[in-house]
Amino acid sequence: MKIICVGRNYAQHTKELNNELPKEPVLFLKPESAILLKRLPFFYPDFSKDVHYEAELVVKINRVGKHIDAKFAHKYYNELTVGIDFTARDLQSQLKGKGLPWEKAKAFDGSAALGKWVDKSEIKNPNNMKFELMVNGISKQIGESAQMLFSIDTLISEISKYFTLKIGDLIFTGTPAGVGPVSKSDQLTAYLENRKLLDLKIK
Ligand code: ZN
Repeated sequence: MKIICVGRNYAQHTKELNNELPKEPVLFLKPESAILLKRLPFFYPDFSKDVHYEAELVVKINRVGKHIDAKFAHKYYNELTVGIDFTARDLQSQLKGKGLPWEKAKAFDGSAALGKWVDKSEIKNPNNMKFELMVNGISKQIGESAQMLFSIDTLISEISKYFTLKIGDLIFTGTPAGVGPVSKSDQLTAYLENRKLLDLKIK
């Protein structure tokens, strides 16, 4: 399986990192080894001094597809959660500055944390879901899928032009404004429609 991540999918976050608004989705991949195993804490990597949280809606692909039409895209996922796209921001800035690929900053072991999966049928409207990240009990990020520049269906369609989607593939759909650094001993909790799905310690 693979993890496809979307960058710059919320206007406010794109501005907070001084990036241009994209005309088509910005995509990058994480390998399967990036998944943070269940019940493990996130161990702060020694190659960075500025690891950031990015809370994101994540969808799990349940059918194989290529060149998927956006109007059928909703049939290609059944489960959703909130995840954290951990990013070594210092490393990413260096790599971006040199025009180099940023995988070391984005795709390292443990950089993809996942909450509990929720069945799509339990969500009123996937195009208008609210999610929230708290750090040590303080609200840091609030996102709504309605604010995405590219909706989940559009993302599935666009991604499948380049990468065949397979069962179990995950799409991290981008982060809203409010990203920031984590420190050892922080407790991250994430909610989808007020349901707590993720509870994670930084070590
Ligand atoms: Zn991200």
